[in-house]
Amino acid sequence: MAEKLHGYGFETRMLHAGAQPDPITGARQTPIYQSSAYVFHDADHAASLFNLQTFGFIYSRLTNPTVAVLEERLASLEGGRGATCTASGHAAQILALFPLMEPGARFVASNRLYGGSVTQFSKTFQKFGWGCDFVDIDDLDAVKRAVNGETRALFCESLTNPAGIVADLEGLAKIAADAGCPLVVDNTIATPFLCRPIEWGATLVIHSTTKFLTGNGTVIGGAVVDSGGFDWSSSGRFKSLAAPEPAYHGLSFQETFGDLAFTTYSHAVSLRDLGPTLAPQNAFLTLLGIETLALRMERHCANAQKVAAFLAAHPAVAWVSYPGLPGSRYHALAQKYLPRGHGALFTIGLKGGYAAGAGLVEKVNLFSHLANIGDAKSLILHPASTTHRQLSEAQRSAAGAGDEVVRLSVGLETVDDLIADLKQALDALPA
Ligand SMILES: *Cc1c(COP(=O)(O)O)cnc(C)c1O
Repeated sequence: MAEKLHGYGFETRMLHAGAQPDPITGARQTPIYQSSAYVFHDADHAASLFNLQTFGFIYSRLTNPTVAVLEERLASLEGGRGATCTASGHAAQILALFPLMEPGARFVASNRLYGGSVTQFSKTFQKFGWGCDFVDIDDLDAVKRAVNGETRALFCESLTNPAGIVADLEGLAKIAADAGCPLVVDNTIATPFLCRPIEWGATLVIHSTTKFLTGNGTVIGGAVVDSGGFDWSSSGRFKSLAAPEPAYHGLSFQETFGDLAFTTYSHAVSLRDLGPTLAPQNAFLTLLGIETLALRMERHCANAQKVAAFLAAHPAVAWVSYPGLPGSRYHALAQKYLPRGHGALFTIGLKGGYAAGAGLVEKVNLFSHLANIGDAKSLILHPASTTHRQLSEAQRSAAGAGDEVVRLSVGLETVDDLIADLKQALDALPA
């Protein structure tokens, strides 16, 4: 596996990729370029920027120097050719699919996705005329049957939110390649420190940078990273990238920009016309977070492993869905795709059902009861009484959010303190 890129290891790129000391002031940290627009040298320079013939900055809805550093850093960490940052993870999903889709087109998605993604794909995307077929990604034969010569993308999460299910990325990439469509992987929960989907054959990697990448619960943001390795022109399916684009005076992005076609399109058309731009202040905070990504993820995983083992042995707990436990049906996949650690997000089932779930989130002291994940601080949620409240009991169970389910995002506190906190809360539940 390519641990090194451009001669540097992951941790070095985490600190340096895409950035250099400011050439004018010498500022060592990437400045926050809080500017909406950029002065043109002259009329010819302005024209060549608008023609995409010269690289430079025009207006911060399209590109911004602080955001550009984060884009280069994420592309480097994922082993991709280019990246596009967005205002949120959900916006990244729209930007990943926008160049591939058109009214009437369909894509295939895993049925084990973050709940917000299921709603976005199955309901909101209908308004664009985009169709989504959900499939059980544990069943590669079912995936093969669902994907065909018209499919625009195969979408999955490498490590799922919330249940810690691991996707067989190599198998899925082969199915996508055979059908001539890109594999799009949401790598939010794993982060590129634990898993780099492009190395297994993914074309696009999307992130909610809100979570572990920023790592401290301060920012909403997202990104799409492109491998640069997909041939958009061979199938005739991806006209926005391969044919003359009417939204950009007939420019063919693949012909003009080669392996940067997707990333250039994403800035010049998708961000320009849809507008979900990441603010430079948010890019700055995410860059700060990424400086310590490897250190944090090692500790997140080590703490989660110990907390999961404690919970699995507690009499109030019916089951623990953590791929780091040897009994997990995803343990072998986790060892293949996540060799450095198995993540810090997982679910447990409590024997006491709904009342126990609602009781546990109230009785813990260190875990914060809220709807987020990937913070340095430990977080806890009872989906049935919160995020999945509107669903029927049957829908909740199908979503892995049954009445007895509690989701934990294990943070960086002293692990014995986390275990003691969970123990006192579990022991206090009615038998
Ligand atoms: C949170 C999350 C998203 C959505 O990201 P936002 O930044 O909240 O828009 C998408 N996918 C996964 C796996 C997530 O955890």
